[in-house]
Amino acid sequence: APVEPPQVVVDANGLPYLDSKLPVKKRVADLVSRMSLEEKAGQMTQAERGAVGNGGDIATYALGSLLSGGGSTPTPNTPEAWAKMIDGYQLRAQATRFQIPLIYGVDAVHGHNNLVGATIMPHNIGIGATRDPGLARRAGAVTASEVRATGIPWDFAPCLCVSRDERWGRSYESFGEDPALVQSMETVIQGLQGPADGRELKDNDKVLATAKHFVGDGGTEYGSSTTGTYTIDQGVTKVTRQQLEAIHLAPYRTAVDRGIGSVMPSYSSLDILGDGQGPVKMHARADMINGVLKGRMGFDGFVISDWDAINQLPGDYPAHVSTAVNAGVDMMMVPYSYKDFRTTLVDQVKAGRVSEQRIDDAVSRILTQKFRLGLFEKPYADTSGAARIGSGGHRAVARQAAAESQVLLKNSGGVLPLKKGQKVYVAGSNADDLGNQTGGWTVTWQGASGTHTQGTTILDGMRKDGDVTYSKDASAPTAGHDVGVVVVGETPYAEGVGDVGNGHDLQLSAADKAAVDKVCAAMRCAVLIVSGRPQLIGDRLGEIDGLVASWLPGTEGDGVADVLYGKRPFTGQLPVTWPKSEAQLPINVGDTAYDPQFPYGWGLTTLAKVPEGGMVTLHALAVAAAVAGKAGADETGRALVAKARLIVQQKVGTGITVAVAKPFADADHLSLTGRYGAAVEQLIAAYKAA
Ligand code: BGC
Repeated sequence: APVEPPQVVVDANGLPYLDSKLPVKKRVADLVSRMSLEEKAGQMTQAERGAVGNGGDIATYALGSLLSGGGSTPTPNTPEAWAKMIDGYQLRAQATRFQIPLIYGVDAVHGHNNLVGATIMPHNIGIGATRDPGLARRAGAVTASEVRATGIPWDFAPCLCVSRDERWGRSYESFGEDPALVQSMETVIQGLQGPADGRELKDNDKVLATAKHFVGDGGTEYGSSTTGTYTIDQGVTKVTRQQLEAIHLAPYRTAVDRGIGSVMPSYSSLDILGDGQGPVKMHARADMINGVLKGRMGFDGFVISDWDAINQLPGDYPAHVSTAVNAGVDMMMVPYSYKDFRTTLVDQVKAGRVSEQRIDDAVSRILTQKFRLGLFEKPYADTSGAARIGSGGHRAVARQAAAESQVLLKNSGGVLPLKKGQKVYVAGSNADDLGNQTGGWTVTWQGASGTHTQGTTILDGMRKDGDVTYSKDASAPTAGHDVGVVVVGETPYAEGVGDVGNGHDLQLSAADKAAVDKVCAAMRCAVLIVSGRPQLIGDRLGEIDGLVASWLPGTEGDGVADVLYGKRPFTGQLPVTWPKSEAQLPINVGDTAYDPQFPYGWGLTTLAKVPEGGMVTLHALAVAAAVAGKAGADETGRALVAKARLIVQQKVGTGITVAVAKPFADADHLSLTGRYGAAVEQLIAAYKAA
């Protein structure tokens, strides 16, 4: 039987806010009416746990929240240590006048990534590639279950960024470049929080989610050579009002519908073309936070600032504070300056620069979520679910996600899947590196190469299935091997550290290039690119037989091996456009001069049992679209593609790749369509006539 967690025995004593039978609204109103201005300001303050020592300041300043931010060290590395740490802080909060529990937050952006041994999912770019909203929901549920089991009720995820330029160091945190794709993957919010009405938030396997970074974080402009600055993270998003709505705001409408509990504004500035304001930092944009998010969209959760973001606002510190609060930010992530913030906020209210009404609204929003999470009744960690952390069941979900996220970009002569009994030569920097495979935001903020947590590498997985020889640097790739698999790609990074120009580019390293060249010269080869974004590979495409975008697949390298060995079919589709060169960036589907290496949505399938008719229809429609010059980029092209997908889904019952445009010239497709030549010709004729 599950062990009952420690409970605070509450005698409501006639105090409505303590009475769990009353509606949340009543409890909030009652509590707010009793609080002093200082206590309210405290609720609006979030400190970094590394800054509060043993937690004495929690009671002294009546802090509302703590976080473990990216740079928070040392991080507890067992579930028990997390729970004990958080319980210690909650105990401090119980020493305040109204015993208002803390809400503790972490960035669990692909699993409980602050915890060694947790199940790590593919980063969002890989989840986008799966095109599988049900899987995204299950991945979110696994994350929530592992996070809450260590006493943490709040997750700063998902990133609803619509990434429009791969030079951005956060590209992999995005589900993709198409707002419709991002919206479809927002099932992850259901996985994290449960149903939109919040009725499951009290459960010991759900957390409050955060949609971030509002709004336009994925649309920032790349720096300029004239200024010598190439930074793109935290930069300026220049868009028309129409683009803002259609591309960047669209996912927030879905998130609000799903009952998202909190929203984090972006560090970036928004420059709406033609509105005469020029670029304005998002934390100061009352028109967007108060106006669009809370007003027009009706968001009723609370807004948490980004890390020290208010310090980037114009003016002096009091101006930072009043500007952000008046723009609609309800809680401030002021990791090390929490005392200053709280005092300054109180002063700003007394000076009449922030209204008491605004304070009451902010505090009410925060308390509402604390009540919904059941924190007043159960402030302490309920670790009864801790056995689920890193469990077989959870890893199976991550393994499936890793498998479904693999995008087969090229497959000459059907080099993939690998065949039983083949002697396989494995090489490359990312074949056997769990750290590189999990990327940034894993154990530490920036992530790290090597073995920093538990899981299987791609090589581990392959060894279980096949006859494998491994040499990282591809020394002596000799005959006697039937096929080579070269796993190359990026090393971990997070946020602006990963910006192109900031020590990064989209090229393979010299060692990776050498490994590809050596292996592919010696035998038939497949190249896997383990990376947070497309890497430029055009000059080597000719020498490579098979090419796979593996993204950052997480701790379950077994899942990648599953598709390599044909235990599961390749079904992933590109969530972003794969460029030919950096000069093409930014490049996105729908652009007028769209000439990518591989278009958005591209991805071959090795689905074994496609009925012939299904395949004919699929390819015929795709060819028809290509022939008609539609290329999937305009509405007619997209409609054709959608129709083809629907027909095949009905026949085959699963998501199948439909790709059009340039790579259709790829020899494999020609031969495939050739096989069904007559039927294809007929369909093309029919479509041309229609
Ligand atoms: C990031 C956020 C993150 C926060 C807390 C910031 O630097 O931009 O995405 O939630 O840190 O770690």
